[in-house]
Amino acid sequence: MAGVRFEGVWKVFGSTPVVSNLSLDVEEGEFLVFVGPSGCGKTTSLRMLAGLDRPTYGRIWLGDRVVNNDPPGERDISMVFQSYALYPHMTVRRNLAFGPGVRREPRAQTRQRIEEVAETLGITSLLDRRPSELSGGQRQRVALGRALIRRPQLFLMDEPLSNLDAALRVQMRAELIRLHQLFEITTVYVTHDQVEAMTMGERIAVMNDGVLQQVDSPEALYENPAHLFVATFIGSPKMNTFSGTCTSHDASPTVRCLGTTFPLAPETPLRGDAPTDGPVIVGVRPVDVRWAREAPADCSVVIPARIDIVEPMGSETYVTVKAGDTTLMARFPGRSGVRSGETVEVAIDPKNVYLFDPKSNAALLDRSGLVAPSSTWTAPAEQHSLYGSSA
Ligand code: ATP
Repeated sequence: MAGVRFEGVWKVFGSTPVVSNLSLDVEEGEFLVFVGPSGCGKTTSLRMLAGLDRPTYGRIWLGDRVVNNDPPGERDISMVFQSYALYPHMTVRRNLAFGPGVRREPRAQTRQRIEEVAETLGITSLLDRRPSELSGGQRQRVALGRALIRRPQLFLMDEPLSNLDAALRVQMRAELIRLHQLFEITTVYVTHDQVEAMTMGERIAVMNDGVLQQVDSPEALYENPAHLFVATFIGSPKMNTFSGTCTSHDASPTVRCLGTTFPLAPETPLRGDAPTDGPVIVGVRPVDVRWAREAPADCSVVIPARIDIVEPMGSETYVTVKAGDTTLMARFPGRSGVRSGETVEVAIDPKNVYLFDPKSNAALLDRSGLVAPSSTWTAPAEQHSLYGSSA
């Protein structure tokens, strides 16, 4: 088992940088997730770590050695990619036994590992079939099994659950986390699905356009995003954003927006380097725009709004409202009975307001006081509702 360090790593194809100056440490035994939109450089970063692509500049460390020039086979890494790459002429059992066979591991040990891994992945009944006799999801589980049969220094996983149906994906997420907790092998996992990232990662590295935007715990990314990109990428439904004006020269800073004035909450002070007065981008998550009659009394700012679209989800209702010229998504309770065209009041607690610099998109408020001090890693099912449901 080993930690990983990207040190000023660049990957340039032709004259286009697709990974720009990536510096990041993955602790020994950590489960780190790379997340970001399609084409942001996640897979390229993983391929460089695997030895399938060489960095154009910079160094990659595995444990205490630089591995830039080491071929993949010398890195003691197990990889699972979206494409399964199973041997078509071999049964599942032989596919699983292939790696240990090449490494000349004892046969009895391999047989036992195959039984364990097959049991964990629910593929025991498939061991004597060939890949052509399996569904896409079953093949993907076999591909996972091939990686899990080893105890390498490092696991690399690139969208390994993407071909599974929603229920199996949730089950496999929990299973992978359980296996990680059991073996504590350093794992770098790539996904474009922010819910998958939030529910699996001990820390998450958010990338956009080849640039690492922020690396932090799921809770910190959600509560205290450093940039507008992170704020709008993490959380489902997406954060509402609109323009406002900040006034901070007197004792009680405020932001004027949505036709009213919000006092800035004492828990979320302006960052020391934030410009004092002027235009800002205001962000509020849909879960924090509440129906005033259902909101707790400390939701002190109440705004009149007209209901546009009502999306009942069962236990809750997502409602698109117009507050003046601004369109907002709000979360109302299930069975709220509201209808399009109706006028209602929505309530926003000032401590749920985020502010960003309209030029740099950097966060202007220090919301770190809202992040639980010792964020513990909880099972996916428990975190699911906080960050929204999976795509
Ligand atoms: P996805 O979620 O769609 O897999 P990603 O974040 O993993 O996306 P990468 O596969 O790392 O993105 O690709 C990053 C960028 O690099 C993309 O614009 C891609 O087109 C480009 N790219 C990747 N490989 C090559 C290559 N061999 N030659 C030229 N450009 C490449």
